[in-house]
Amino acid sequence: DPTTGHDFIRTIVAEDNRTGKFGGHVVTRFPPEPNGYLHIGHAKSACLNFGLAAENGGHCNMRFDDTNPTREDVEYVNSILRDIRWLGWDWGDNLYYASDYFLQLYEMAVDLIRKGKAYVDDLSFDEIREYRGTLTEPGRKSPYRDRTVGENLDLFQRMRDGEFDEGSRVLRARIDMTSPNLNLRDPVLYRILKASHHRTGDDWVIYPMYDFAHGQSDSIEGVTHSICTLEFEGHRALYDWCLDELDIYHPQQIEFARLNLTYTVLSKRRLIQLVEGGYVNGWDDPRMPTLSGLRRRGYTSEAIRDFCERIGVAKRDTWTDIALLEHSIREDLNRRAPRVMAVLDPVKLVIENYPDGQVEFVESEINPEDASAGNRKLPFTRTLYIERDDFAEDPPRGFYRLSPGREVRLKDAFYVTCTGVVKDESTGEIVEIRCTYDPETRGGTSSDGRRVRGTSHWVSTEHALDAEVRIYDHLFLQEDPGDLPEGGEFTDNLNPGSLRAITAKVEPLLAEARPGERFQFLRTGYFCADLDSTPAALVFNRTVALRDSWAR
Ligand code: ATP
Ligand code: MG
Ligand code: MG
Repeated sequence: DPTTGHDFIRTIVAEDNRTGKFGGHVVTRFPPEPNGYLHIGHAKSACLNFGLAAENGGHCNMRFDDTNPTREDVEYVNSILRDIRWLGWDWGDNLYYASDYFLQLYEMAVDLIRKGKAYVDDLSFDEIREYRGTLTEPGRKSPYRDRTVGENLDLFQRMRDGEFDEGSRVLRARIDMTSPNLNLRDPVLYRILKASHHRTGDDWVIYPMYDFAHGQSDSIEGVTHSICTLEFEGHRALYDWCLDELDIYHPQQIEFARLNLTYTVLSKRRLIQLVEGGYVNGWDDPRMPTLSGLRRRGYTSEAIRDFCERIGVAKRDTWTDIALLEHSIREDLNRRAPRVMAVLDPVKLVIENYPDGQVEFVESEINPEDASAGNRKLPFTRTLYIERDDFAEDPPRGFYRLSPGREVRLKDAFYVTCTGVVKDESTGEIVEIRCTYDPETRGGTSSDGRRVRGTSHWVSTEHALDAEVRIYDHLFLQEDPGDLPEGGEFTDNLNPGSLRAITAKVEPLLAEARPGERFQFLRTGYFCADLDSTPAALVFNRTVALRDSWAR
């Protein structure tokens, strides 16, 4: 909306508030199924639902849509609650489980049977699918469709009592087998599943289908706006049908476009395959688009919420460039991450005219974006490490870093001029770069005003610590990893170079880095101490490289 700046959902909610459609309140819900960990797409939905409630002085229910016992687990419940809290959303007292409504839902189903609006069908799942017809072909009625109310009540009760085998009978809505909307061709409402539920144990052997549980759960909770993704657009007529036939309070379903992120899969089914197939190291592998993976990678919840705000809410599916997510974390960490020196691909630099055994301390700013962060002291000695690619023996045009005869700045320390190199006799590899320094340039500026074009970061060899650094790249090679040739598998698109572990030389202060702590490694990127990191064996994850490829 150009006048209010509202997205289409906020426009609907504002209009409902104005007309008093729901008595002026706003109640939303975030309804994950506990069958996997939350991913960045779920964050979009959570931010929309919790955000909308907060903006309107309403509340958002945290509801587990736990109606399919075979795939659900308390591990997932716990991880979801943790992730939502981490994102900064608070459900207060409003934590619900659809499984708490099993009895009420059962009674609603009985009510539909009494009204002649539901029947027990003995067709198999395959037969039901076959009888359903297609978009161009009307469906056919089941031979069991005209059972009497009494017979249906009896059979449904016996389904509940466990008398029948899985797959032998279902309860179906009695709507219209010729409807152009396939969802209305007598959809299944209940099926027999002899599986233990993570909360209700063996109390039930029949379980409601999503389409029967969801709207009624919304109604029970007094939800006003039930926001879901576009795949459910065609289910809205069924959502409305159930509530109307049951004649109970009727929330409004609204659909929005799900997040699709380039080089990423956002489907729990596929994420489970990655975990179970050992393609990644668990749900919190820093390459995973899960909130636990992003957190371990070094993402902040602020950056994720900022990203969710920037992508907005639309009615039609689009793709979001993963560079935008990276831009959000870069912006956040630029403001808050302390700067440190870490050399990822070290080569020795020996300063010939610097006294052997001498140590002096130079001052370096902790964060130029935050004056209150102050300075730290870095030990400077005769032998340092610099990045191998900060030196070129035979510099190409436009290369302003160190090369024979050229002078560069060592960040916050001195100017040095290269005098030569030492090579390994057998391999020809440069093992040492030799230079001299100008003692008059302490702090990295010269009193005579002469300039250098290149600045290198460095660490003193005798003070440097070894750290394992994990460099991540996109998990998939293709922008749309699900765009597959005939017979292809999305796992064929995995990027074999998505994780590269190297040993870096880092400044001594990092010995104290605690798991989860974030830094900018000067000139190379933002990094976060991994969960596995200890003072004796430091491990850092590269959250994101410094260079921003986000094109505005
Ligand atoms: P998946 O396809 O990953 O299994 P789902 O929709 O089955 O997702 P739910 O646990 O039902 O997962 O999701 C909870 C909420 O998050 C739902 O309201 C769902 O619509 C929303 N959601 C899931 N994926 C996305 C996405 N990519 N973008 C936006 N919202 C999403
Ligand atoms: Mg779902
Ligand atoms: Mg799903």
